[in-house]
Order: sequence, then structure tokens, then C-alpha cells
Amino acid sequence: MKPNNRPTSDQLLMDIIREAISLGCEVQMETVRYKTGDSSLLVRIADKYPGLDKGIFLLTTGIHANEIAGPLTTHQRLPEILACTRVVGLQLVLYPLICASGWDLGTEQNVDGDSGDDGNNDYLRRRTIDGKWTWKLSDNDPCWEWCYSSDPILGIHLPAETLAMHTFLQQEDWSNIKVALDIHQDYLTPDVPAGAYQYTFGDTSCYNDIFGKIRKLTDILGDRDFQFDRKDPTSVRHYDHNGCTEFHDGSITDLAYQQRVPYALAIETTGPTPIEIAIEVNMIWIRGLCDIISHTPTGETMSQQASKPPDPFDLPSEEARMVNEGGHDPKPDSSSHLIKPIQTSTTPDTVRTDDYGDLATSVREALESFQRLNRGEPAPKVIVHVDENDKNHVSASWEKPKSVPWRKPKKWF
Ligand SMILES: [Zn+2]
Repeated sequence: MKPNNRPTSDQLLMDIIREAISLGCEVQMETVRYKTGDSSLLVRIADKYPGLDKGIFLLTTGIHANEIAGPLTTHQRLPEILACTRVVGLQLVLYPLICASGWDLGTEQNVDGDSGDDGNNDYLRRRTIDGKWTWKLSDNDPCWEWCYSSDPILGIHLPAETLAMHTFLQQEDWSNIKVALDIHQDYLTPDVPAGAYQYTFGDTSCYNDIFGKIRKLTDILGDRDFQFDRKDPTSVRHYDHNGCTEFHDGSITDLAYQQRVPYALAIETTGPTPIEIAIEVNMIWIRGLCDIISHTPTGETMSQQASKPPDPFDLPSEEARMVNEGGHDPKPDSSSHLIKPIQTSTTPDTVRTDDYGDLATSVREALESFQRLNRGEPAPKVIVHVDENDKNHVSASWEKPKSVPWRKPKKWF
């Protein structure tokens, strides 16, 4: 346990894994290796409770490892989060601590101090009509095509955990994701008071109830400007009265927008905001977004909150031909042919982790931590999947030791 009662990354992840399995979730993880010789776990949790047929709630926290409010929200409130998503028929897919190696150091970046070419929240690039790839799309600049920033044609350097996230995200069922919520904290803006603000797309009136609930806890920092490019002090965005701004910045949230997720947003509480308040703000968003989904009439296609991203292949044929004749490469397949998918067998064998030597070290350590934390209880069976074509690629899942009956929660809203 760290000073201020914050768990270590290992404790945090093992607590979440243990709780997730006991609540009927599947856990997958990847080993992320660093130049320092350290390794950390990237954990994906997917709710497997039966009958969740209203789509996916994608929740990501801890991209910036010093921003503790998001990971602590999932650590402290996972049963409540699952209750919220289940009661409205959504499947939770959770990445609870993306940059685990930076968590124990209290740094934004990983243990290598590597923030890549353009930060560690770097997920896509768009090509503008002049042929340039950019992570910041200006308001008046149409996007003609896009690809993951890990695409080798771009030659962009990404931090190790960001690259591992790309592999996971390219296998997510984007067409079924209804909500993509990425939780942050702002420790960068100088002299910023306690409060909350957010990056959103499209009409934000659907969030009015949420804004009202947040205002009862803390200020919403609206009607102000924030700097968005750390390398450029002149770069500012205006935030409206409700603290919302719309900005295509190449982030995981921008990727969700590009993948046409109806409700894609990144939320921020500022550093001076007491951590308990920040966690409550995060929970207001999670409950509120589930509430919005619950009010979507059954059988009706949910309206896209954000306007659809421009797509050259949606243009009339004449215009589309002009784009292609301009020498642009074909539009990359969103399922990417450039990164190998994890090869998971439909009937995975249970294997001994030591069959794979160093590759499974972190898997074994995680299981040992799990067993320590569950002293006296049966440990789950760990299943390791190794990509036969790429021995550096290993993932693991657990079979839960016993089924735990799930009680229908009280209505949260
Ligand atoms: Zn952040």
C-alpha cells in the first residue's frame, strides 16, 4: 500500500481481477515489456453476465498513470458499475489501468518515461485533403481517411502500453459499442480550481441531467479556454457553459468517435478536486450514461449523437474518384490487416504457464498475487493463450472457480 492508502498497481489490478471474476466477468491480460526490463499487465475485463443485449459500455481509465481518480473509481466501485450497466442490458468492457507501470511512480508516462512521438493517448491519425496526416484536425479541415496511429505506414513511435492497447482495441466489436467513456484528471492546467469538464461530440443536451448532478458536488468549469497542445502555448479550445468542447485530437475518445460510437467522451476532474468528489463525478457519468441508454426506445436505432465523421467513400462517386486519383492510398480497413490479431482458440486448452518461459512471467506473478489475495480460497484456473506465430504475444484468462449468484440491484436512477 502506498502512502495516502493508494494501492500499488499490482494490488489494484489483483483486487479488480478478483472482484470481476467473482461477479461473472472474463479477464484477459497482456504482458507489456519495457526497455528498463520492467513489465506490467494490461488487463481487459468483459462482463459475461447472460442476456446483456443492448450493446457495450467501453470504460477506459489510467491512460495517464498519475491521474488516479479513474482507476480508483473502478477499484472502489466495480460492483456498482456492473450493476448500472447490467440493469440496462449493457456489457461492460473495462480497461482499469492502462499505464500500470507509471502508477507506482506517480508519473503520467510509463516506467521508460516514454510518451511516444505525440503522447500516450495516441490512437489515430487522419489524412486531410492536402495529403498530410495529423492528430489535430482543425474545425474546417475535412478528414479524407484515417488509420490507427500504430499503422506502420506512418512510422509513429508509440509507448509500449499504447501499442498493446491498439491490439486490443482493433479486436473490439466497435459496431456494438454504445458508450465509450475515458476518465482523466487534469493536473496540468496551472491555477485551475476544483471542478469538472469534458471532451464531447455533437449535441450535449442529452447530458443536461448529468451536468445538474455534478453541479451539486463541484463546479463545472465552463465558459473558459484551455490549452490543448502541450507543445504550443497558443493552442486553446473554448469550453461552453457546461464545460464541453469538441476536438479531434487523435485520442482514444476521438477513435471512438471515428468508429461511430454514439456516446463517446473523455471526462476530466481537476487536480485540486478532492479525490472522493472526483470519484463521485465519475460515477455520475457512468450512471447517467446508462440512464441515457435505458431511455432509448426498444427496437429503435439509437441516434448518433455526434455528426458522422466525414468519409470519402460516402461522397458522390465523382468526388470520391477525385480523391482516389489524387494519389491517396486506399482507405485502411478498420479491422487493420497490419497488426496480427490475437489467435484465440474457441476451445482453449489449459496450459502450464511455465511451458512458455519468460513470456509467462507476468502471468504467473499475477496468478501468485491473486492466490495471495485469496488466501484460503480456491484459486481460479489460469488459461494462457500464446500466439504460435508470435511468441512475444501472450494473453491469459481465468476460469472463475464458482458461479456467484448476481442479485438484481436497486434502481440507481
Ligand atoms: Zn489525462
